[in-house]
Amino acid sequence: MRIPMTEYLAIDLDSERWLCRVCEHDMGNARGNYKEGTLVYDRDPREIHPSILDPEKYEYTFAPDPLFCRILEFYCPGCGTQIETEYTPPGHPPTVDMIWDIDALKKQWAEREGDPETLVNYGPGENAIAEPRTAHSHSHSHAQH
Ligand SMILES: [Zn+2]
Repeated sequence: MRIPMTEYLAIDLDSERWLCRVCEHDMGNARGNYKEGTLVYDRDPREIHPSILDPEKYEYTFAPDPLFCRILEFYCPGCGTQIETEYTPPGHPPTVDMIWDIDALKKQWAEREGDPETLVNYGPGENAIAEPRTAHSHSHSHAQH
């Protein structure tokens, strides 16, 4: 059973592996950090946020200082989809943004009905929801005052 975890990442509960949702590339042990299975592009932040003022004339140009900030971009090695980005100090290792209790996920989904890939929608769009919800039944009053 594959559980969508982000727009581009899923966890296969049977194999306990992180998978790319675009190409199904195996990104590593689902009990660990998926970023270890990605390609990392260590970017100079000035490429993303260029100077607004002339750097020849001004010390501070509204561009991030590459001596204090790097932008790490994480890509799927299978299909090249950008999965995540983060701002870190130079030399800082990739952060750990998700560690899941796989045993609890297995228990939770064993008790649910339905296909997680249709129940959980992290994709873009106004109908994207993070968790399956039950329809709420209370009524609203729209009386004008
Ligand atoms: Zn992929």
